[in-house]
Amino acid sequence: MKTKTERKPAIWFVVGSQHLYGPAALKEVEADSKIVAEGLNAAGFPLPIILKPMVTRADEITAFCKEANYDDDCLGVITWMHTFSPAKMWATGLKLLEKPMLQLHTQLSPELPWDKINMDFMNLHQTAHGGREFGHISARLKKPFSVAVGHWKEERVTRKVDLWMRVCLAINESRNLKVARFGDNMRDVAVTEGDKVEALIRLGFTVDAFTSNDLAEVLAAVTDEEVKATVADYEKRYILTDVVRAGGSARGNLEDSARLEVALRRFLEQGGYRAFTTNFEALSGLKQLPGLAAQRLMADGYGFGAEGDWKTSALTRILKVMGQGREGGASFMEDYTYHFGPEGDLNLGAHMLEVCPTLAGKTKPVLDVQPLGIGGKEAPARLLFSCRSGPAVNVGIMDLGGRFRIVINEIDVIEPPHDLPKLPVARAVWKYRPDFETGVAAWIVAGGGHHTVLSLSLTAEHIRTFADELGLECLVIGSKTDLDSFKNELRWNDLYYRDR
Ligand code: MN
Repeated sequence: MKTKTERKPAIWFVVGSQHLYGPAALKEVEADSKIVAEGLNAAGFPLPIILKPMVTRADEITAFCKEANYDDDCLGVITWMHTFSPAKMWATGLKLLEKPMLQLHTQLSPELPWDKINMDFMNLHQTAHGGREFGHISARLKKPFSVAVGHWKEERVTRKVDLWMRVCLAINESRNLKVARFGDNMRDVAVTEGDKVEALIRLGFTVDAFTSNDLAEVLAAVTDEEVKATVADYEKRYILTDVVRAGGSARGNLEDSARLEVALRRFLEQGGYRAFTTNFEALSGLKQLPGLAAQRLMADGYGFGAEGDWKTSALTRILKVMGQGREGGASFMEDYTYHFGPEGDLNLGAHMLEVCPTLAGKTKPVLDVQPLGIGGKEAPARLLFSCRSGPAVNVGIMDLGGRFRIVINEIDVIEPPHDLPKLPVARAVWKYRPDFETGVAAWIVAGGGHHTVLSLSLTAEHIRTFADELGLECLVIGSKTDLDSFKNELRWNDLYYRDR
């Protein structure tokens, strides 16, 4: 097992061919593969592409697939059938391959040399032919895979490769993720529950239970210097209200919150956890609900779920990894309250505290302490801001008993049409697609929960590809959704996903 610093995650690129046209043709295939691999790497994807030796025989292909499975640094495999690679050679290897696969269906040169083209050219550049043979065996094996179609320099191809690589990163994260939960699920709530063993089998992540007292032990060892440094960081990054400034009436609560953040960060780092949950009903040993700490940890890439919602916590982390380096941000979110008015039918999304400041865009959040009506603890610290506007997705993951279901709603986050001077939480105001009535009704008949991950950096296609690769049910509610067809999709899916 490699340590974290030794790891060099990459995508492996393999080109399939055969010996039918002699060694000269194979030499050309190899040379062309180098050009395409170098060209793709120059496009600046989130992972480097490593060109592996060309494969021309079944034993080579099987060995390649085994090696890809075994190597932790291989996060996915791109295949290209430059000439023709009879697919019976691929059957055994592809049956074994457990890494995500993208079939690159491309050709070296964009245009045909119309006046020069002869049978040698046709035989060498026959992706149109070879890619179909390859696709056939993948389809027959029911292997989930993606296809990028077009000339390899075109935006439609590089966009697809980028999208698929992000899915590879997300799958790798999901398979290595550990979620820490402090307390169980909120009592009586159904949708945040689920089968953690099945989540391990299907998505790969593990969920470990702790109590808030475990956190309180770490909390006791946090030094005053650490608290001071954390508060200084708050002062640098946020606009502090009067009550939390030095000498303010709630300065002590802010320091308690900083102490909690240091402890939580330490606990997660020491245990190798990249996602966590809290529950306002289970705060024994803590002075306040970790609100600001959850916000700041999310901003640093941690997954978070409130009320014990480990599924949404894991999904937050996975989608943050998927969207890394892209404009936008992602956060734990909740559909909270509606506005039916002249501005259109809107949703005001928020949570009692925990909205990630990556959604704030260029706005500097306000740092405040205000009482929390539930949980029976002291007034917690929180960052206040309105989410930046733009197209976004709201993503939910549910356990239906027989399977996991991912539901995506395409939404448009807008500037709040009015000020919200009394609202003591960060918030996002959005419109549902295709329209309020259809979008909300579809979400409800799909059993979608109130907790979601809101991402401004990803599209429905990103998440759908992730679900497809893992064989998870995925429903998209977007501009094209028609409620009757959507209900039929639910019925068909019940047949298709009869068991896990
Ligand atoms: Mn909630």
